[in-house]
Amino acid sequence: MVKEILKLGNPALYEISAPVTAEDAPMLRAWADDLHDTLLDYRKTYGAGRAVAAPQIGIKKRILYMLTDREYVIINPVMSFPDDELYEVLDDCMSFPGLCVRVMRHKRAVLNYTDIEGRAQTMELEGDLSELLQHEYDHLDGILATMRAIDEKSLIMMQMKRDLQ
Ligand SMILES: [Zn+2]
Repeated sequence: MVKEILKLGNPALYEISAPVTAEDAPMLRAWADDLHDTLLDYRKTYGAGRAVAAPQIGIKKRILYMLTDREYVIINPVMSFPDDELYEVLDDCMSFPGLCVRVMRHKRAVLNYTDIEGRAQTMELEGDLSELLQHEYDHLDGILATMRAIDEKSLIMMQMKRDLQ
């Protein structure tokens, strides 16, 4: 089902989400389907969106949903960084469409998580997917990209972005 995406300013987005437990197992498929439907609906409207975090649709659980070459349901992820190399990216978010934020992200990241079948998985991320999943991971800790703005000139409206190009 398509859910409402909570928007910047909604206090629920600033909360820390709880780990998924065995008791949540019966709900996982339904939650993943809601995340899927909501992501596709957003794509239809805005032509973008590769991943979404459960708290963005009001589920305060540590679940990320990514739709790229296939579906990834990322449960209780733990992120680490193999090195300290950072780079600047222009971040956007389904919780504030039309706004971009310049932030620093790690070039490389490692994500350990449990998939929807309950199997332990490891993803080694670089570049694009690294920054994407750092962004989504932040949502689980109540952190929005706006809070990582590099400086006072880091908030850019889409229209301005087009003008700059
Ligand atoms: Zn976001």
